Order: sequence, then structure tokens, then C-alpha cells
Amino acid sequence: MMDRRRFLTTSAAAAALIGHAPGAFAASYDLLIRGGRVIDPSAGLDAVRDVAIAHGRIAAVAADIAGDAAETIDARGKIVAPGLIDIHTHAGRSKEGPAMILQDGVTGWVDAGSGGADNVDQVAAVARSAPQIGRVLVNIARTGVISPAGELHDLGAANVALAQGAIARNRDVVVGVKARLSETVADTNDLEALRRAQEAAVPFGLPVMIHIGQSHSPLRAILALLKRGDVVTHMYAPAPNGILDDQGRLFPDVTAARRRGVVFDFGNGTLDHFDWATVERATQQGFWPDTFSTDWNANSRTTGVVDLPNVMSKFLMFGMPLMQLIACATVNAARVFPAFDDRGTLNVGAPADVAVLDLREGSFDFVDNYKGTRAGKQRLFPVATVLGGKKTPARA
Ligand SMILES: [Zn+2]
Repeated sequence: MMDRRRFLTTSAAAAALIGHAPGAFAASYDLLIRGGRVIDPSAGLDAVRDVAIAHGRIAAVAADIAGDAAETIDARGKIVAPGLIDIHTHAGRSKEGPAMILQDGVTGWVDAGSGGADNVDQVAAVARSAPQIGRVLVNIARTGVISPAGELHDLGAANVALAQGAIARNRDVVVGVKARLSETVADTNDLEALRRAQEAAVPFGLPVMIHIGQSHSPLRAILALLKRGDVVTHMYAPAPNGILDDQGRLFPDVTAARRRGVVFDFGNGTLDHFDWATVERATQQGFWPDTFSTDWNANSRTTGVVDLPNVMSKFLMFGMPLMQLIACATVNAARVFPAFDDRGTLNVGAPADVAVLDLREGSFDFVDNYKGTRAGKQRLFPVATVLGGKKTPARA
């Protein structure tokens, strides 16, 4: 990743530095984000800094940057992070979705299987017209997500040739294949559906994201079908067939899967995807998320998902350090899909996608998927988003 980053153009930064008359070294920027606590896990940076932006790219990150700017954001007392990346959303279901999550600081998203071969073209069209970078996973079931009936009850819906056709005609935005494996979705077809998802994805060199929890088959059998770079979402789904055994211990197969490069994603969602007890037992054994995601859709504001910063805040209660918390929503997420290679970072030359967050102290109620409430002392709120160097409207 860093190797690829090294080749990023620095022409924007160079142009900014020589923008004035020869001999005058004062720089001129398009936007200056002043005095925030810059947390950029891609650089291991946590310090008060200014961030200067020119021509849509990060031009400088330094203390007290001299020079003028067309626009300024006063970020004193706020956290300045790389734009957030949410790898499990359903933002592609509606034209309005992407603009809504942009207000949450989300400057990159993946729609995880809303559409299958029959209807993913509409999701791909939403991704192409989104203000920020949006990418798509093709559901291995040709219908995409069907609610409340599961899309894999009829195994005939998992048609490899049709899925491959959908990938081929949307190759510009499709970054993988999705399979939902809960018994309510897939009945007893979980393993065969996953085999077909791999068969569709592998010729294109793409990962598969699976949704686990309450599956017919034990997780051990499911994990055995995953390759390096594949993603397990809803990682803290409670029993049966979650990541913990009857005694609450992590299955060795789970840690083994992580060691061989399988990514474990939080996937908040609303129903049966996590409970506090599973998060607590797993994190006590050192099993933290690689990435956060919301499983967001346009109705999520009122369901306990709210927004990605809210989902991230849940892990502050369990003692996750801020640097790691922000890494999960930025650089770690960017590493999952090559489409996000130059994102999730404030490196000079990178696209100027920035999330300004407010870490507020108080008493905040957070909910799991079983109406369990826990009170935390801190919560992150999105206060401003910069996309491609431009300030975007704040959430009402
Ligand atoms: Zn989902």
C-alpha cells in the first residue's frame, strides 16, 4: 500500500508552493483546516496540526502553516481525520443515500450486496453518480437482498454465470461478491452458496464478503471456504454458529482465519448482527474489528446505527484507543479494496477527503441489535466533511 502511495502525484503540492511570484515563498491554498487534533493512522500521527489543501489534494500537514487560503475551517478542539470509509452499507439502494452519508464524514463507501445479477445495474448507477467514491458488491443471489424472505432459500438464485455477467458489465464499480449466510436467508444452502460466490469472484480476482451469524453450518466449515482478502461481516453475531464456543471462548479457526488474511468487519446493522456480550467476550480475548461498518440504509438514522462515527464510538466503551478506532474506519478499510488505495490517509498528494469529528464527553446511550443499551462517556459526532478539497454541507 505505501509503495503505491509513494507514486501519488505531488504536483498539487508543488503547484501550491510556487503559486506566488518568484522569490515570495508564502503559499496560497484552496482550503486550510486550522488547529485540529490530526489523527492519521496511515502516518501514525496524532498531534495538533494544520492541513493545507490545493487542487483537490492534501498539500501539507504541519504545525502553523503559513500562507493564505480561499477558505478556512477552524478545527480547534476537534479531531481531523482522513475521510471515513464504510465497507458495508446499502447506500446504493437510493439516489439520496450517498449524499446523506457524506454528511457523516463518509467519503468512500461500498454497497454490500443490495443488488444481484437482476438488479445490480441500478446500484452501480447510483455508485457512478455519487458525490464520493462508491463501490459495489454483487449479491451471489440474482435477486439481491430480499426482505423479509431470504434470497438464497432457492439455491437456483445463486447463478454463477449471471453473477459473472453482472460483474463484467459493471467492472468499473464492482469490487467483490456478497453472500448472506444466515439460516433465515440461505436455509441449509450456506456452504454451496459460498462456493458459488467464490466461483463467480475468483476469475476476476475479487474478494467475497460473507454475512455470518445464525447459519445452518458451523462457522468452522464456512471459514474454510474463505481466501486471503475475503471479508467476514457481522463478526460479533451471537450464537448459534458465531465466533465463540459454548464457554465464550474464541474458536481457534477464527484467529487462524485472521492470520491467513481474512478481514473481520463489525457490520452494525439492526437485527441479530451483534450483542454487547459477544463484543465484550471477544474483545477481552483481543479479538477487535479490522474495520467498522454500519450496514447503513436510508432509514438508519433512527435505528441505533445513526452514522459511522456513532458506530465507532461504541468501541470507545470497550477501551479501543482512538488511533486504532480511526484506523478501522480509514486506512484499514482502504486496504480491503484496491479501489480505495489512495484513500483513508492524509498523506501529501492524496485526494483531500477529510472528516472533522467532535469527541464529546457526557453520557450517551448506545444500543446493540437486541435492544441492549450501554451508556458510554464519549461519542464522536461528525461536524464537517471535506471531499476532494471542497467543504460539503453539514447535516441538518
Ligand atoms: Zn448488509
